[in-house]
Amino acid sequence: MTGPTPLARRIAARIAATGPITLADYMADCLLDPDHGYYATREPFGTAGDFTTAPEISQMFGELMGLSLAQAWLDQGAPSPFTLAEIGPGRGTLMADLLRATRGVPGFHAAMRVVLVEASPRLRDVQAEKLAAFQVAWADDIAALPEAPLFLIANEFFDALPIRQFTRAGDAWRETMVTLDGERLSPALGAPMAQPTLAPRLADTTEGEVVEICPAAGPIMAEISARIRRHGGAALIVDYGGWLSRGDTFQALARHRFADPFATPGEADLTAHVDFAALAAAAAPAACAYATQGTVLTRLGIAARADRLAAGMQGPALDAHRAATRRLTGADEMGSLFKVLAIHPPGTPCPPGPDQRAA
Ligand code: SAH
Repeated sequence: MTGPTPLARRIAARIAATGPITLADYMADCLLDPDHGYYATREPFGTAGDFTTAPEISQMFGELMGLSLAQAWLDQGAPSPFTLAEIGPGRGTLMADLLRATRGVPGFHAAMRVVLVEASPRLRDVQAEKLAAFQVAWADDIAALPEAPLFLIANEFFDALPIRQFTRAGDAWRETMVTLDGERLSPALGAPMAQPTLAPRLADTTEGEVVEICPAAGPIMAEISARIRRHGGAALIVDYGGWLSRGDTFQALARHRFADPFATPGEADLTAHVDFAALAAAAAPAACAYATQGTVLTRLGIAARADRLAAGMQGPALDAHRAATRRLTGADEMGSLFKVLAIHPPGTPCPPGPDQRAA
């Protein structure tokens, strides 16, 4: 440690002045502060960065997810024009692979209007360069998307949204707050309070259990669902997490290693597992399907696609390709920790892949 980061000093001053802050406020400061925030200052992706995402591991991820969305578009009568949107597109890799894979889908490219929802001006530049061959527009949020059929994908977007964390105490909850321990930022439990939004969780948790909520996720999901129900469309939401939040999943990643989330604010990526039950509830009454990433990619034919790509490879490139395929689908790797939630209008076919009804 080389002393507190500039952001640590600023957050400590805020807590000293106005008292402990929620994890959500802390996460928002760490990730989005315009001067010192993680997304404003870092290139987090790839081997030199802090983490590697599925589209950065293999082109097959964006190709197969893209073909699933294109099939949903065909199943709904190939509406034209339609919005092809991605939220949190990172380096633009997923969208580039999706666009290459869907070139052969008759009418798809002619009908699409590509819109990227991205908060970081720096990443918008990276995406513009990667997708220079296409006409692409950017939006600040979902509400700014055109009123049109919406086919949308998100990978590792919802895990970056700020969460609040609660520990059960009788029929009340103690919220995890960020406070000062001397000069150090450290977590502490607040006083027990009733939490009406957590009332349903009293039925499935016991004393001392930890649950997390992501206040920003529900409204975003509800807006996506409303557009899809109004105009047609489908969404594929991919992330790590599970059905119902359970336990402390707040984590920091720096240079591909777990780090102390309170030690270097602004310098590590902060995330939490996504609660897909909460996303599905926010999307109601749209139809939902839910399955693991491994299951979805297998159903979409990753084995055949991997063999096809392997035919042109040898030596270390072939070994890396085989390892990437395992990493995306293996039960002990990303295959079971990552989940896919599909949203579509009731009465329309589900995008292929996650096509089992959610619980
Ligand atoms: N989907 C990419 C990147 C995941 S990282 C991949 O799989 O590689 C999260 C992405 O979401 C980044 O592009 C980040 O800048 C963006 N992001 C984070 N919070 C956001 C917000 N509130 N609105 C829009 N984009 C956001």
